[in-house]
Amino acid sequence: MLEINNLKKSFDGLEVLKDISLQVRQGEVLGIIGPSGSGKSTLLRCATGLETPDSGEIHYEGTFGLVFQNFNLFPHYSVIKNITDAPIKVQKRDKEEVFAEARALLAKMGLSDKEKAYPYQLSGGQQQRISIARALAMNPDILFFDEPTSALDPELTGEILKVIRDLAAEHMTMVIVTHEMNFARNVADQIIFMDKGVIAQQGTPEEVFGSSNERMQEFLGKLG
Ligand code: ATP
Ligand code: MG
Repeated sequence: MLEINNLKKSFDGLEVLKDISLQVRQGEVLGIIGPSGSGKSTLLRCATGLETPDSGEIHYEGTFGLVFQNFNLFPHYSVIKNITDAPIKVQKRDKEEVFAEARALLAKMGLSDKEKAYPYQLSGGQQQRISIARALAMNPDILFFDEPTSALDPELTGEILKVIRDLAAEHMTMVIVTHEMNFARNVADQIIFMDKGVIAQQGTPEEVFGSSNERMQEFLGKLG
């Protein structure tokens, strides 16, 4: 579904990604964890074409959706327009069909009454659910999340994690950068621990969280 081979990326002589290779199979959830500055966002940005790698290969099939930490909704668009705009304009899909799907997604997110609202009128958790609905409206084959809950307080974090957990249960293929270790452990099939631009540990949650890797233990210790 997604395959990355020997990805390298530097900024101003600083090697941020040093030879990263990974694979995500259809229906699988990959969790990416690691300290601040280890290259997690850069990896996601390279994988989704927001950043051009210096070398390496990225292969994936189909469309992808992207959900950011700060929601990134269009502030001057209503909720429904945020969700329907790209499917209509970019994917050139039938307007009525797109609106019907968008309303179904809003219902799924428990936000049917917010269709006409603007982002500033919504809580952070609601904005993030809209931004997930917007990503899903593209019918993506794979969804990328970059710390989808780190701008939210614990209560709203729970809402979002539940939405992602439900998507995992529906076998949505996902790549999730997160600082929520329990969530990563529970939802991911495969975990990558990044440290200073390399994959320092990779495997099942049991393997990675149970490993005696010094950097990994230090990282988990710091999180308390
Ligand atoms: P965090 O957990 O804080 O989000 P991260 O693992 O996502 O961290 P990145 O955002 O990928 O880390 O950044 C990795 C390194 O690359 C950092 O040293 C950062 O300063 C540098 N970096 C990222 N983007 C750029 C850029 N556009 N220009 C210059 N340096 C950059
Ligand atoms: Mg980041």
